[in-house]
Amino acid sequence: MDQKKEYPKPKVLLHICCGPDSTAVYERLESQYKVIGYFHNPNIYPKKEYGKRALAALEAGNTLGFHVVIPEYNPEEWLKAVKGLEKEPEGGKRCEKCFRHNLEATAQKALELGISFFTTTLTISPHKSSDTIFKIGRGLSEEYGIVFLDIDFKKKDGFKRSVKMSKHVGLYRQKYCGCEYSKD
Ligand code: SF4
Repeated sequence: MDQKKEYPKPKVLLHICCGPDSTAVYERLESQYKVIGYFHNPNIYPKKEYGKRALAALEAGNTLGFHVVIPEYNPEEWLKAVKGLEKEPEGGKRCEKCFRHNLEATAQKALELGISFFTTTLTISPHKSSDTIFKIGRGLSEEYGIVFLDIDFKKKDGFKRSVKMSKHVGLYRQKYCGCEYSKD
């Protein structure tokens, strides 16, 4: 008798910028991948706010059924990466450096964990340029020899879906992008 062989899903390391955004992104990925979240966001200021967002990411993972890795909070390295760009407007050059900082850390972590795919929840935000994020992700993919999934999660009403799902779960949603320069 013919038996269909089940293969395990490939793993993807998902950079999670915040718990609410991870909900709809996880929903899009989970049929094809085993998702592991990586909350690498030393851009978030102050530490108390970082704690709230990290907790929301863990809650999203616990509710939907995926593991979230939370590294040590290291804002000094991030501040070095964006040095000289403090006065840039949101969406400008500082944000490109910020995306790169978090995506490069994700690519490095994926290599360390033996995961061949990485991607990010960042493209679900209507305020963030998916093209810029794709350019950075593809560059890192070449540099590190792992696959960047260039999926535009804001398509198919992704952001709207994340608002609905995160409200349902009762997740904390932040009121500013993250860094001290985006706060006021
Ligand atoms: S505004 Fe947001 S994306 Fe831009 S540098 Fe600050 S935290 Fe990063």
